[in-house]
Amino acid sequence: MPATLKPSTKEYTLNTGAKIPAVGLGTWRSVDNNEGYKAVEFALKNGYRHIDDAKLYENEDQVGKAIRNSGIPRSELFVTTKLWNTDHKDVEGALDASLKRLGLDYVDLYLIHWPQNTDSKVDDPSKYEDYVETWKSLQKIYKEGEKVKAIGVANFTINKLEKLLNADGVDVVPAINQVETHPLLNHEKLIDYLKSKNICLTAYSPFGSDKAPVLENKVVKELAQKNGVDPGQLLVSWAVQRGTIVIPKSVNEKRILSNFETFTLPKEDFEALNELEGKEGTKRFNKTPFNIFDE
Ligand code: NDP
Repeated sequence: MPATLKPSTKEYTLNTGAKIPAVGLGTWRSVDNNEGYKAVEFALKNGYRHIDDAKLYENEDQVGKAIRNSGIPRSELFVTTKLWNTDHKDVEGALDASLKRLGLDYVDLYLIHWPQNTDSKVDDPSKYEDYVETWKSLQKIYKEGEKVKAIGVANFTINKLEKLLNADGVDVVPAINQVETHPLLNHEKLIDYLKSKNICLTAYSPFGSDKAPVLENKVVKELAQKNGVDPGQLLVSWAVQRGTIVIPKSVNEKRILSNFETFTLPKEDFEALNELEGKEGTKRFNKTPFNIFDE
């Protein structure tokens, strides 16, 4: 019996009290030929209400235009953008520039994209771990209550979050930690830790990023076939079922639609995906020169 797929309607409540749709559209690499505009326009017409962007993606102008042209009340949309590494010393200036490119008065979520500043020397971690000061700048803007409705981080390990939460002057807990997560990098420990702190996890690169290598995994393919769904639907549904937010990227209309359709995995299939990393080993597809994960 094929699974019953339905457009995703699940939302989570952030520690700010705001709601965030569980499935959003990623927009990294959606830039050439106005792809950022077209993908967001199509996604919003077809039920998506959560869009993930970043200064780095160089498409905030396209994404913002599609949002503004959609006719959907701004209050019904959840828009994220991110502070790039070179902007840690001028958070407000960077945010203002993002808002200007987006053509929006505020974002629902502003994230520190990586926990360091690439202006500093990569071979000396003590020099680039200045994210506590960066966070204090975000906190200040958040408390002013106008330009950002929630603040969070991305690519933070438990150690880095502990350092942040225990730092003097830090009194806003991140609403979200956005990290690469899929069955070959399932972050079980991090998820438990985040739950204990009331921080949501957003799973980025849920298919393994460019060319979607995790969708080619043998077990993923078999389980998708067994349930009569495509591998993307299997992984998005797994992510939602385990209580994470997930932001698959696509610029292809058929895949934008299919990635938004979720179902409940049978217990044994859900467990099989939970156990995949343990059986096949850890795979991280987003390589970073920053060496921030080996701790
Ligand atoms: P994804 O894991 O979402 O995979 C995207 C790739 O999968 C593209 O090549 C896409 O091609 C393809 N694809 C999408 N749907 C399907 C499908 N159903 N079947 C087959 N192939 C498919 O990668 P991303 O790295 O883009 O991650 C998602 C989002 O997460 C980003 O776009 C970005 O918004 C965010 N992100 C955040 C990071 C951070 O540091 N905070 C880092 C990386 C990502 P096509 O477009 O042709 O469909």
